[in-house]
Amino acid sequence: MAGNKAVTYVGPGKVEVDTIEYPGFVLKDGPGVNPANVGRETPHGVILKNVATNICGSDQHMVRGRTTAPAGLVLGHEITGEVIETGRDVEFIKVGDLVSVPFNIACGRCRNCKEGKTGICLNVNPDRPGSAYGYVDMGGWVGGQAEYVMVPYADWNLLKFPDRDQAMEKILDLTMLSDIFPTGFHGCVTAGVTVGSTVYVAGAGPVGLAAAASAQLLGAAVVIVGDLNAERLAQARSFGCETIDVSEGDPKDQLAAIVGEPEVDCAVDAVGFEARGHGRESATEHPATVLNSLMDLTRAGGALGIPGLYVTGDPGAGDEAARHGSLSIRIGLGWAKSHSFTTGQCPVMKYHRKLMMAILNDRVQIAKAVNATPISIGDAPRGYHEFDQGAARKYVLDPHGLLN
Ligand code: NAD
Ligand code: ZN
Ligand code: ZN
Repeated sequence: MAGNKAVTYVGPGKVEVDTIEYPGFVLKDGPGVNPANVGRETPHGVILKNVATNICGSDQHMVRGRTTAPAGLVLGHEITGEVIETGRDVEFIKVGDLVSVPFNIACGRCRNCKEGKTGICLNVNPDRPGSAYGYVDMGGWVGGQAEYVMVPYADWNLLKFPDRDQAMEKILDLTMLSDIFPTGFHGCVTAGVTVGSTVYVAGAGPVGLAAAASAQLLGAAVVIVGDLNAERLAQARSFGCETIDVSEGDPKDQLAAIVGEPEVDCAVDAVGFEARGHGRESATEHPATVLNSLMDLTRAGGALGIPGLYVTGDPGAGDEAARHGSLSIRIGLGWAKSHSFTTGQCPVMKYHRKLMMAILNDRVQIAKAVNATPISIGDAPRGYHEFDQGAARKYVLDPHGLLN
C-alpha cells in the first residue's frame, strides 16, 4: 500500500508534511507512542480515507512548545472520513460509510464509557484516563491530519452520516462534529445555558465561537463574547453576538452596558491556560485570569463551563507553580457564590448525533460561525502559522481534494 501524507510536529513553531506509514490494525512504535500501547491490536478498528481534518487550538498548545510533545508526533484529532477497510471484529460500520470521529478515543467497555464519560475512558491510554488521536500523553494513537487514519473501537466511536450526498453538501459544518461544536455546546450545557439565559463566553477562537453559536441554539437571550483579537470579535458579531474587548479592561465592567447589570447567568471559558490578562495586563499571560474573572462575573448559583484546556505541566509557564499546573485560583469566591464548575475533555459522543441533526436540518450554521476555511494538506504549515497569528478562521485540511 502507498504511503500516507501527514502533518507532524517538528519543534516549537514548526510543523511539516511528511510521508508516514499507511495505517494498519496494530499500534506500532513511533514518536509519542506509549510503550505499553506498542503492538496493541485493533481488530475492532477501521481505516478511514480522511475527507476533512481540522487544525485546533489544542494542537497549538503543542506546536507553541507549551507541552512535552515529542518531535515527529503525527498531529490531528478532528477527523471526518470515509471507511475504506474494516477490521475483522467490526460488525455494523461498513466500507463506504461517511463518518465523524469523536476526538476522544473510547473503548465502550469500561466503567466510564458505560456512564457516557468517553473523555476519560480507562482502557485506551496507559498513562491516565482519557485519550485522543495525535496528542501528547494520550497513548500514542496516530493523528488524523493525514490522508488515512486508523480508528479503533469503530462500531462504538463512529457517527455515520445518514446520506452521503447530503453530508458532502454540508461537510464543512459536519466536520465540526469531531470536536469544537460538541465542545462549545458542552461548555454551554454545563454552564446551565437555557432559554432566556445571559451568557458570557471568554475567547473568540473556534471553540468560543462554537460555544456562542451553541448558546444561541439553546435559546440564550444574550450572548456576549470576550477576546482581545479585533478580527475574532468581528467574527462573533457577524452572527449576532455582543462583544467585549478585554484589552480595554475587566469584562465585568463592560457587561453592565450590555445586559444592564455587571453579571451573567452562565459563563464559558474557551481560552484555557495560555490566557492573557485584562486591560493593561493583556500584553502578557496570566493563566488564572479567565477562571477568576468568570467567578467574578457569574451570578451566585450560576455555573462555569470550562472547555479551555489546563495542563498538569507547562514548560513555558511564567512561574514555578504554573510549570506544574498550579494556578492562583480564587476558589473562595466561587465557593461563596455556590458556583458549579465543569472541566475536562468534552465527551463528544453525548452530543454529536443531536448536533448533526441540527446541522442537517438547517437549525445552525456552525461552519459560517467559525469561518471554516478549507486548505490543502500541503498548506498545513501556513494554516498553523496563520491560526497562531490569530486569524479569525477554522482551518480545515482537505487531504484528498474533496472539499468545495
Ligand atoms: P484559540 O487559541 O484559537 O482561541 C483562544 C482565544 O482566547 C484567542 O482568540 C485568544 O486571543 C483569546 N484569549 C486569550 N486570553 C483571553 C482572555 N483573558 N479573555 C478572553 N479571550 C482571551 O483556541 P480554540 O481552538 O478556540 O480553543 C480554545 C481552548 O479550548 C483551548 O485551550 C483548547 O485546547 C481547548 N479545547 C478543549 C476541548 C475540550 O474537550 N475540553 C476541545 C477543544 C479545544
Ligand atoms: Zn480539537
Ligand atoms: Zn472506555
